[in-house]
Amino acid sequence: MTEKIQAIRGMNDILPEESHLWEFFEDSVKDWLHSYGYRTLRTPILEKTDLFVRSIGAVTDIVEKEMYTFVDELNGESLTLRPEGTASCVRAAIEHNLLYPGSQRLCYWGPMFRHERPQKGRYRQFHQVGVEALGFPGPDIDAEHIVMCARLWRRLGIDGVELQLNTLGAPEARARYRTRLVRYLEQHHEALDEDSRRRLNANPLRVLDSKNPAMQSLIAGAPRLAEDLDEVSLRHFEDLQALLHAAGVVFEINPRLVRGLDYYNSTVFEWVTDRLGAQGTVCAGGRYDGLIEQIGGKPAPACGYAMGVERLLALIAESASAVPRRVPDVYLVHQGESADRFAEQVAERLRDAGASVVLHCGGGSFKSQMKKADACGARFAVIVGDDEARAQEVTVKPLRDMAQQVRAGLGEAIDLVMKN
Ligand code: ATP
Ligand code: MG
Repeated sequence: MTEKIQAIRGMNDILPEESHLWEFFEDSVKDWLHSYGYRTLRTPILEKTDLFVRSIGAVTDIVEKEMYTFVDELNGESLTLRPEGTASCVRAAIEHNLLYPGSQRLCYWGPMFRHERPQKGRYRQFHQVGVEALGFPGPDIDAEHIVMCARLWRRLGIDGVELQLNTLGAPEARARYRTRLVRYLEQHHEALDEDSRRRLNANPLRVLDSKNPAMQSLIAGAPRLAEDLDEVSLRHFEDLQALLHAAGVVFEINPRLVRGLDYYNSTVFEWVTDRLGAQGTVCAGGRYDGLIEQIGGKPAPACGYAMGVERLLALIAESASAVPRRVPDVYLVHQGESADRFAEQVAERLRDAGASVVLHCGGGSFKSQMKKADACGARFAVIVGDDEARAQEVTVKPLRDMAQQVRAGLGEAIDLVMKN
């Protein structure tokens, strides 16, 4: 037998059995984004590598070890499968002058790619929904972003996700803090793991983001950024907290929250749960006021966030209220030469009226067709034999209750299917 070809490790097929959950999620998300006035921006899945190196930062997990980067042999260009959406969004906004008429509320969704060790909630192709507000200084927009997340969790029936909040201050404050942090880390050089030693000078804040259990007590004892914070950032952070209190959003301030991408400043946040094991962050984001300028645009403040779709779906799947599966309204059973032709017309007429109809294909006895009708979950079997075809009628058999089957003209049959 020919050898089977399998999917790439960490890249999942989403099977028809799971698709009702994805569709429920996608439909809810699109309505929700629209209800806050966000408009979709669709960018290519491939970008020039430099875009991600310059925006996410050279000394980050993503750029150092997670990107799918390759050389396009046709022209020698280095390309990368997008590991996240913000960089592409900002690139497109600059390229098409989207900010010329004013600030923009944008959103996107789709697959992202990171070469990580696959495990529950961590894949090499995964999906994000992202929201970006370009040209807004905040903190009102920061609050909008957080409040809209809270609404989405309610709408999806997800509870038990908690909000963690922090501020990274202005770049100057971070620079001051960096000096103090490096001094502290150097004093504890022997306790640093290999990654952290490498990052000590290039990107010391990243050390605080380490997931290594052996590093946690060292991290807990590190100096705090809060002491270096500038007036403006502090005010911004306090105003944001007041807005969140007023909106009834509960949060916890986590001074260790630094985020794994370099472009953040000021507000950062994560929504976390303890129901997904180690992969507990379902949504994360913050302000990136310097990024637009950094990748070649006219300076403009901005903020945004992205959520991990697979992790949210895992939460939805385990919550009590099951997401209803979509089933066809009608399975159309038919047998006989004139019946086959008439059945096709009946199916199209039903679809004209808005019904979902599976027309039986491939012949077979009435009995075997009725079995298929039952198995597919349809609410009605509509049956056409040569006798019905001659009279231009059908037999409508309800499959989900004990109601009697009836023979009817097409108009009456359509009424029956659409009303029930
Ligand atoms: P983590 O700390 O879990 O690696 P991250 O900080 O790298 O997350 P972000 O870049 O902030 O993640 O991406 C936003 C969200 O996308 C995450 O909170 C998570 O829900 C999801 N996500 C990130 N990487 C993956 C992955 N490899 N597989 C599935 N979901 C992911
Ligand atoms: Mg990561």
